Parts: sequence; structure tokens; C-alpha cells
Amino acid sequence: MTTKNTHQSSKTAKLAELDKKHFLHPASNPKAVVDNGPAVIFAEGKGVTVTSTDGIEYIDGMSMLWNVNLGHGNQELAEAGNQQLSTLACTSQFKAFSNEPAILLAEKLASLAPGDLNSVFYTSGGSESNDTAIKLARFYWELKGKPAKRKFIALNNAYHGVTVAAQTATGLSAYHHFSGSNIEGVVRATAYLLDSEKGDKNAPNYESSIRATIEREGADTIAGIIIEPVQGAGGVNIPPDGYLQAVRQLCDEFNILFLADEVICGFGRTGKMFGVNNWDVVPDMMSIAKGLTSGYGQLGGVMLNDEIKQTISSFDAVVPHGFTYSGHPTACAIALKNLEIIERDQIIGNVKSMELELKKGLKYLEEKHSIVTNCRAIGLLAAFELYEDPASGKLFDPTVFPANAVVDACFERQLILRALGAHNQIIAIAPPLIINKEEINKMIQIIDEAITAFKETLN
Ligand code: PMP
Repeated sequence: MTTKNTHQSSKTAKLAELDKKHFLHPASNPKAVVDNGPAVIFAEGKGVTVTSTDGIEYIDGMSMLWNVNLGHGNQELAEAGNQQLSTLACTSQFKAFSNEPAILLAEKLASLAPGDLNSVFYTSGGSESNDTAIKLARFYWELKGKPAKRKFIALNNAYHGVTVAAQTATGLSAYHHFSGSNIEGVVRATAYLLDSEKGDKNAPNYESSIRATIEREGADTIAGIIIEPVQGAGGVNIPPDGYLQAVRQLCDEFNILFLADEVICGFGRTGKMFGVNNWDVVPDMMSIAKGLTSGYGQLGGVMLNDEIKQTISSFDAVVPHGFTYSGHPTACAIALKNLEIIERDQIIGNVKSMELELKKGLKYLEEKHSIVTNCRAIGLLAAFELYEDPASGKLFDPTVFPANAVVDACFERQLILRALGAHNQIIAIAPPLIINKEEINKMIQIIDEAITAFKETLN
């Protein structure tokens, strides 16, 4: 690693001024950006690291937004993009136009996806995928002669994106309520009430379970259930074994579609090709994005099972839904190369062995620091929590913002992580899937130092 240079170059200072003036950042504090400028301006990346315009090199412990799965500066992905860009960068897929990379990618996805999820509707990202899935599910039920099946059940703490339907399905309060624009027909249930979903009406919180929600709303009004196999932005919440199977059974029992949001989990993040593979569950629809191109192209999609595809294919008129970039040839060419590399280089095998290293590191942190608790990892999707007193469940005072403090202390030490949780108590770790043992240990060492520094501020 290069050493930290605290002097901003004149180029960086100039860019920061322009940023303050003209760039309204996503999911950022606009006043803080105007007051202080951007937190960092990235200039290049290689492997698990990214380097700023000032030459400071950071370990990207979050794969940016859980998406740069093959790491930065991958020349094969760049070459795949370059080749397609210089051959035929962009085509329309409307009115049955098609292109070779989109067709070949659709076939590849069908071969990788579980069960009979054999078709894909392309989008430009995760939110669009979830909006598309919700619309297609409603359309499917209309075609089946059940137009009353329109509602979607979505879980508390879920994150499904920020377009209007996806935002409505998102169960994180700030995102859910932003601008007040929500769609009708989304009902909330509590995540992970395993006994309730299996039918135990005396189980705690039964009333807010998916099962009770179906009974209350009426199965004939419900189109589907949307679930992340492992909740990401909601705090890296891994469901108990048997939970997704129980939801699958509920969907079968009540004739409801199971929509798995694989936007984070898909393509190896959890140590399997898809998150649902960890529990051998086959959903009816699957939203994909992020790791599909490792962030080298803006591409998402909704995978559909044969029944839904065939039903929609019986509709003999134009379906009025689609994006300019649905099936963008350059993004699809990159995705094809990305999937080829994941298989060829046995990336998922690396995820499984690095999961063990990461778990060892988290255990070390938990044993060393009494404030660290609830360490968890599935593949390279991990988190730990900070409590003032884990034994009694005592959180830090809300004014402390412990996760922000430790994430900031990591950033000062050139490691990027992310703070989550309603009490700002969770720190997520999701490094590129190509990470090695030394890099994992370096991350743990930095987190260790950052927690120590945070504890000193408390005294
Ligand atoms: N679903 C999940 C599970 C996500 O984590 C995200 C993004 N973090 C989205 C959907 C939305 O994806 P995008 O930002 O590409 O629209």
C-alpha cells in the first residue's frame, strides 16, 4: 500500500470544487457534500484496491456497493466491453429486435439458475428489476384470469431499491417514506418467523408473519412475496435454516409467486451461485443485477420460470414495458465474460475458503473487543455489531453512532466498509470475491485498530 498523503493535490481540490457545485450525490448528505466536498475522488482500481486522485490506496471491503465481485481493473472484462463497444455498442431490443450477446447471456443464465428459471427480462439494475418483477407478476395473474391477485408481501428490514415499486417494497423506514411516493398493494410482514411460517399459530409475533398476513389479506388478493435470500442493506441478516423452504411451501399452499431478490446474493457472493441455492429453494421469479457484470456494465434482469414465461408468451400484443438498455449488447457481453471467469477461475471455491478466513478474523475481533458481537458471514457477505454491553443487549447511546465512528476510523486507515442498522450498530463487510488470505487479514488488522481507536474516544 502507498502511504497516506494528507495534502490534497491541486487537481483534487479543483475537482472537489466542481463536485460541490454540480454533483448531487446518490444516498449522501447534500449539505455535508456542499460544506466539505466529496469524501474521496477515485481515480483507479486494481484487484481489491481503489486509489484516489491523491494517490491514496484503499482496500475496497464492500466491493463498492456489493457489486464489484471480480475486483477492480479486470482487463478481461474491459476487453470484452471494448470489443463489443467497437463492434456494436448499443441496439434496441424493442419490437423484437435482438442481439447476439443478449441471446447468449439469456441462455447462460438459464443454465445457471435453479429449477426452471429459464428466461430473462433485462433491465439496467436492481431497482428496475424489482419494479419489473412486480409488474410482470401482476400481469401474469391478469392473464391467468385472477386480476385481484395484485398485492405483494415484503419483509421488514428488506432493501429492494429506490424506484417507486422497489422503494415501497423496501422495509427501511427512511427509504420507504422518501418523497411519499409509494404504490398501492404492498403489505409488510416480519422476517424470519420460522415457526409461524411453518404453521405454529402460537408462535411469538405470529400476527405479523407472512402466513398470518396471507390469511388476513386473503390469498386471492396476493400476487407474490419478495424476499432477499440474505438481507443486505437491512443489516446482513441470514435467515434461519428452513425459513426459505417454509416460505416456498407457503407460496405453493396459497398459490402465490415467490420472487427472490438476488441482486446482492447472486453470482457467488454467498458461496453458491445464487443465495437460494444455500437452502435448495427454487423461486418463481428472481431479480438479478450487481454481480452479473461485477459492476463493469449496468445490467439487471428478472428471471422467470417456464410457467410465467409461457403464460406471458400467450399474450398476442405488445407488452408495454421495457427499458432503453434492456439487453444492452455491451453490458451483456461483459456479463458473459464475467460469468465465464467466475466458472473458469472457480471464484466460488475462493469465496468458500475466504469465508473461513473472514470468520476466523471476526472471531478474533469478538474475543479481543468486548463491544463486538453478532459476527456472521455467509460466503463473503458478512457483518458484526457494536454494543456497549453485548451480554445485557445494551446499545450505545444514540448520539455515539458507533458503526459510523468505526467505519470512519477504518477509512482513515484506508479500508472501506459500511455502517448499517437502525441503531447504527452494524458494520458490513463484502469484499471482492477474488480476495486472498493476506488481504482478509489486512482488513481484520485495520478493523482491530479502528475499534481500539474508537474505544479510546469513549474514555
Ligand atoms: N435489491 C437489493 C437486494 C439491493 O441490495 C439493491 C441495491 N443495493 C437493489 C435491489 C437495487 O439495485 P440498484 O441500486 O441497482 O437499483
